[in-house]
Amino acid sequence: MTALPGQARAVVVGGGIVGCSTAYHLAKMGWEVLLLERHKLSGGSTWHAAGLVGQLRSQAGVTQLLGHSVALYDRLERETGLATGWKMNGGLRLACTAPRLIELKRQATTARSFGLEMHLLTPREAQELWPLMDVSDVVGAAFLPTDGQANPSDITQALARGARVHGATFVEDCDVTGVGVERGRVTGVVTDQGAVACEVVVNCCGQWAREFGELAGVNVPLVSVQHQYLVTEPIAGVTAELPTLRDPDRLTYYKEEVGGLVMGGYEPDPLPWAVQGIPPGFHFTLLDGDWDHFEQVMRLALPRVPALETAGVKSLINGPESFTPDGNFILGEAPEVRGYFVAAGFNAFGIASGGGAGKALAQWIVGGEAPYDLWAVDIRRFGSPHRDTGWVRRRTLELYGKHYAIAWPFEEHESARPLRRSPLYGLLESARACFGEKLGWERPNWFAPPGVEPRDQYSFERQNWFEHVAAEHRATRERVAVFDQSSFAKFLVVGRDAARALSWICANDVERAPGTVAYTQMLNSRGGIECDLTVARLDGETFYLVTGTGFATHDAHWIRTNVPAGLDAHLVDVTSAYAVISVMGPAARDVLSALSADELSNAAFPFARVREIRVAGAPVRALRITYVGELGWELHVGVDYAVSVYEALMQAGQAHGIANAGYRAIESLRLEKGYRAWGSDLTPDHTPLEAGLGWAVKLGTDVDFLGREALVRQRTAPGTKRFAGFTVDDPDVVLIGRETIYRDGERVGWLTSAGYGHTVGCAIGYGYVRRVAGIDREFLSAGRYELEVATQRVAAKIHLEPLYDAGMERIKM
Ligand SMILES: Cc1cc2nc3c(=O)[nH]c(=O)nc-3n(C[C@H](O)[C@H](O)[C@H](O)COP(=O)(O)OP(=O)(O)OC[C@H]3O[C@@H](n4cnc5c(N)ncnc54)[C@H](O)[C@@H]3O)c2cc1C
Repeated sequence: MTALPGQARAVVVGGGIVGCSTAYHLAKMGWEVLLLERHKLSGGSTWHAAGLVGQLRSQAGVTQLLGHSVALYDRLERETGLATGWKMNGGLRLACTAPRLIELKRQATTARSFGLEMHLLTPREAQELWPLMDVSDVVGAAFLPTDGQANPSDITQALARGARVHGATFVEDCDVTGVGVERGRVTGVVTDQGAVACEVVVNCCGQWAREFGELAGVNVPLVSVQHQYLVTEPIAGVTAELPTLRDPDRLTYYKEEVGGLVMGGYEPDPLPWAVQGIPPGFHFTLLDGDWDHFEQVMRLALPRVPALETAGVKSLINGPESFTPDGNFILGEAPEVRGYFVAAGFNAFGIASGGGAGKALAQWIVGGEAPYDLWAVDIRRFGSPHRDTGWVRRRTLELYGKHYAIAWPFEEHESARPLRRSPLYGLLESARACFGEKLGWERPNWFAPPGVEPRDQYSFERQNWFEHVAAEHRATRERVAVFDQSSFAKFLVVGRDAARALSWICANDVERAPGTVAYTQMLNSRGGIECDLTVARLDGETFYLVTGTGFATHDAHWIRTNVPAGLDAHLVDVTSAYAVISVMGPAARDVLSALSADELSNAAFPFARVREIRVAGAPVRALRITYVGELGWELHVGVDYAVSVYEALMQAGQAHGIANAGYRAIESLRLEKGYRAWGSDLTPDHTPLEAGLGWAVKLGTDVDFLGREALVRQRTAPGTKRFAGFTVDDPDVVLIGRETIYRDGERVGWLTSAGYGHTVGCAIGYGYVRRVAGIDREFLSAGRYELEVATQRVAAKIHLEPLYDAGMERIKM
């Protein structure tokens, strides 16, 4: 038995595939690592996984991470001398309906965008790869040749051996019972064999990660759900070369195992597990097979693989696994405690992700920043709603039940709603709002006119709200519209050194006179964009920051961790204190002037200024900024006054044809104006120079800021990618994002966001054009462009200026 050392630089808790992979990568990077497992390696969820390894996800970063798993599994056996069961037998995916085929085609284009090989096949070609299946209901298929399968326990042991070779220490039968935290930073762990001092703790506790997180006050929002698959005796015709198979319309997946089949499924009515807590001693343990529940999956599988009818059944595996409320796993430094990292909640793709997730997390720990854009899996995407396990469970079960459902564009979740409501919610509901949800907030997406049901009808074509959003868009461009943006995250940064602190973390100059508003990015050391927000200076020591709803935890964490030590600057989250009512459009001043005695002329209240004014008797912090490209104000108003202000605006606006408008209209309006969105257009992978936001960076001053060095370096070399806009004239083309960009027939990038511009009257997309040999305006303008949309190429035009009001006349009037 290995003795427990008294200290290690990093302690990884949990010896499943993810913990072993993290230890392997950390050790390889030269870190002193100790892995502690309460029982034996792989005895959690890992040992009973089916072992399919797929790669394609809808986010480039996660697809890249899964590709790293495949690259590792492909060499691990040679490297460690231990068998891993890895084989790159490819992955087959079926479509049985017309919409599913469109989804498959869009996925094939996404794969192409991300540089992953994925071929479309006819049903007959698919059957040649998988002769046992009946394809009478199949309308198309796709094949990913580099997907594969592995033996989960073997791969875990191989990773552990690799880690040990590089110096990691493993101690099994060691229960970690506590985490030492002092002044918000990890100091060590407490175990049933003694204490270990460390700088970094990594929570890789699988379905135990939530309760383990609680020991240090860290929220890991995941719950256990039962997941079942059947294992058969050998079946004639099942060969080792058989690709893995996913049959989403029949909710099932398959892989070959010792001449037989593994067949599992995602039932729409999943069974939660361990609602009262995971029983002690649950290790290398299975739940009882639930044949009654599995029958629905079996009934769907039999017509596809008739041989299952007569195959001998070895076992029905029922294993619990951790799932999360958005179907993605949880990675990164916990916002609550410095030095506390999490890699958990793998939603039944932990074998596929293990290799890449361990690598990414090790790079994150060593480098202090995510190595590439991992926002989709970043632990900071969660917020206050995710602290309630009941809420998390309800949403998670919805996601599990929809695992194989078509992922429609613009789809909203239905469970656990409504939770967070702006003071205007009831009024907007009466005004026939169709709400969407973000971080628990109900937000109006669009408004249904009388006689139209405020409900989304999903499709890959134009959806039912298209015309209604067009009307809201026109109201904003031609008259005036009101948007409830109360869900914005809002912070105060206060203190003697607030200006110095913000000046260091903001790329733009924010140390301006009180009353000024700056649009800025916050950058990582590579110059990549970590935050994109508005900073309003209220007085010498007080700044008011406004950022996107979903970025509340992320941005607060980024600011708190990057303010230089010793400065007197404190961040206070004031999101719940203020509603935000945005009044936008050419008549915005007329409407506001009717309700306010304050001077609102362009001279008295110019663009990019903040003023405390009164509107309909209410004290209002008015920011003259816009995300829709029109004259307008964001009115930040105490929640107690919000209803009165809204009512007064709608009353005063009647004469000007005022309209309610929602988030889908904002999207259309901002696309025309070329405003970028963080999380898609702007990410930690792109710098402001690449994003065309050099004008918002204070490189012209000698003020130092985080990321400056990287930008200075980048400025002197020819850039290799550049953000650009694209339009498509064909009115039948629907752009939703991830379409491939071609320049002179060569793949050069993909759309990071897309939609429809109702003023310009065409589909619009944005993305980065890449060229290793260097890129400039001339190169961009000289090309002939096409976009690949659901595997079809369509002609496109490139735009390097905003499509709407490039001169800013509309905004500054
Ligand atoms: C039926 C089923 C089929 C699946 N099929 C697939 C598939 O085909 N492909 C795929 O990619 N994924 C699949 N998965 C998912 C996969 O099994 C998991 O995502 C993966 O194993 C998670 O690994 P992990 O390391 O995060 O967690 P685990 O393997 O659960 O490891 C966590 C470890 O932490 C230890 N631990 C917990 N608390 C403590 C503590 N306080 N102190 C010390 N140690 C502690 C536990 O003992 C455990 O060993 C499947 C899952 C199930 C249930």
